[in-house]
Amino acid sequence: MAEEPAENVGGGAAGGGRGIEFESEETHTCIETVIDRLGELYWQKSYGGRDAFECLVRTVLSQNTSDKASQPAHDNLMRRYADDGGDGDGDGNASVGGTVDGGEGNEAHGDGDSATESDLAASLAAADQPELAETISNAGLYNQKSETIIALAERIVSEHGGAAGFDAFVREAEYNAVRDALLDMNGVGPKTADCVLLFSGGRGGVFPVDTHVHRIYRRLGIAPADADHEAVRDVLEERVPAAKCGFGHTASIQFGREYCKARKPACLDDPDACPLGDVCEQVGVYPDSGEAVDPAEAPGAGD
Ligand code: SF4
Repeated sequence: MAEEPAENVGGGAAGGGRGIEFESEETHTCIETVIDRLGELYWQKSYGGRDAFECLVRTVLSQNTSDKASQPAHDNLMRRYADDGGDGDGDGNASVGGTVDGGEGNEAHGDGDSATESDLAASLAAADQPELAETISNAGLYNQKSETIIALAERIVSEHGGAAGFDAFVREAEYNAVRDALLDMNGVGPKTADCVLLFSGGRGGVFPVDTHVHRIYRRLGIAPADADHEAVRDVLEERVPAAKCGFGHTASIQFGREYCKARKPACLDDPDACPLGDVCEQVGVYPDSGEAVDPAEAPGAGD
């Protein structure tokens, strides 16, 4: 299991999300049973308070590569461009809340020091591109990624005055305004935007969808077999209580790594091996033949 921070990271309740009330026992649904079980299996936390700009930087570095490759690039970048070297935590948490599967990326692990954040954005906006590319070479696609990071930094500085202003915007502005602004940035897709809203903004009711989440909830039969990422997100954000979306996201990713793997879900060989086996429709999973396909390829998908 990937390590999770020992402490909850506060900010969820104050993040101005879309409501944080738990629903009553009577309205507990199958999906809540799933989320509650995953919470018991892994963790139940609220999130928020991480540096929004560093989150974007880490996201760009992690695109199309693994945490193992992007973590040293992130550490090198922070050592060179953040005044205090950044958190440079290397704590093995790089993938928590993000993906290691070539998705859009992960959340950041800043220490919330606004002076450091401002320095980082300004420093990267002024960075020499070949030098930055060399600094992050471990992450692959370093020319393209260095250009993207510099462009993001320039925009953050010009529109928000620096990373501290961007942080405040992510935490305090109206939800749709923040999401639209994030999606308008080059290199930022829906999952990245949602991760920033969750891990930096502490917004309740945001359930980022990566490839694990996309696969699991269609296999379970909770989302339609042919639903795309945005459609799965709609289902989850509509039906999962706001306060459970954060850990629902991170715990689901861990569950996808350990149990509901893309090619070899745990139930393929042993029907009792999965803790969600009794509530799962196993869409696209065929224990008799030992095969697992994308739910969208299962007979009847999209009917
Ligand atoms: S029963 Fe199989 S398909 Fe369903 S969640 Fe568990 S591992 Fe995934």
